Amino acid sequence: MPEGDTIYRAAAALDRALSGRRVVRFESVFPALTRVHADRPLTAMTVDTVQSAGKHLLMHFSGCLVLRTHMRMHGSWHIYRPGERWRARRSDMRVLVATAEFEAVGFNIPVAEFIRSRDLAKHEVLSRLGPDALDPGFDRDEALRRLRSRPSMPVADALLDQRILAGLGNVFKSEVLFSCGIYPFAAVAELDDRRLEQLVDTARKLLAANVRTTSAGLMPDARHRRTTGRDNPSESLWVYGRGRLPCRKCRSAIAVRKHGTGARLTYWCPECQTS
Ligand SMILES: [Zn+2]
Repeated sequence: MPEGDTIYRAAAALDRALSGRRVVRFESVFPALTRVHADRPLTAMTVDTVQSAGKHLLMHFSGCLVLRTHMRMHGSWHIYRPGERWRARRSDMRVLVATAEFEAVGFNIPVAEFIRSRDLAKHEVLSRLGPDALDPGFDRDEALRRLRSRPSMPVADALLDQRILAGLGNVFKSEVLFSCGIYPFAAVAELDDRRLEQLVDTARKLLAANVRTTSAGLMPDARHRRTTGRDNPSESLWVYGRGRLPCRKCRSAIAVRKHGTGARLTYWCPECQTS
């Protein structure tokens, strides 16, 4: 599942491929997008920049339009040379933005909309995002303030709440909590300032460690996500996806529970995560 690290790398790769270039072709299966394109042709525009905001990807055009996409579970952006064979089905294409040099193709993207640049700051979803864990100007105090404002919320839910901290998804949630030794279902109020600071700092550190490597061609994905610091791909994560397997630190069986909105799985070590 794409989390902030994946979106950040996707935005960086798209930015390198497209920015400063004129759009020569635009396609989409979403009528709301093609209507905008019919009114104000994208082909008269230039890609200014592509950036991430939490798990949202924002493609800016000629200072006036922004294409917001959100990948949810299965969406992805690929970059191709014109004429290059796609590594996904044509029927899965949702959005295509081409310059003379590259084609950016969004596959299985469930959320895509155009926003006028001047309306971006008051956008219903974007304006409510908490501090972006991957933003170099990250506002730690604000993230902590937002965490503390939800005292009764289980900390596992708080980490997924994009209005508190933007960028984390379900994989990093379990990994961050293990790294901090925090029980996922403890309420935020049960954690003192030092523990909350450790939580926020660890979330940033683990996400940042996963945006350093970029691969050319196919959009970087989450297959090589790593939180343990170990090179062996079979040892890349502490607890996520490891239900009933022995903990890498204490050998206890990793626990797993369906929890929260959409019944997402939470993985934790009952021995290592007690506070
Ligand atoms: Zn353990």
